[in-house]
Amino acid sequence: MSTTTKTTRQGLAADVVFAALPGPTRKRTPSPYCYRLTYQNPDSSAEGCVLSWDVMGGREVYQIALERQASGRLRWHCSCADAVYRGETRAKPCKHVRGLQALGRDKLEVTVAGG
Ligand SMILES: [Zn+2]
Repeated sequence: MSTTTKTTRQGLAADVVFAALPGPTRKRTPSPYCYRLTYQNPDSSAEGCVLSWDVMGGREVYQIALERQASGRLRWHCSCADAVYRGETRAKPCKHVRGLQALGRDKLEVTVAGG
């Protein structure tokens, strides 16, 4: 038996990042949100879902997905009411997506290079 320094992974990518976003309260006091990467397409140039996250910290747990369209454009999806309400008609993504974009920019550019 040799000792290893390999870290335990639970199958899925266990990347978790935190961000302070305007909270769900009326005052929108910044509150901690947690993004947990739940899916990562092994082929980052493939069409379809590239990455997805669970977002915790709001009233509910939301799901964010990054989709690569046939044209090669990346499109963000979030399950929150905010995104559903105005996401289709406005270019501006909801705060969860914006928070993730701000946070994970470096990481995403590595993972989703060429997007
Ligand atoms: Zn959202």
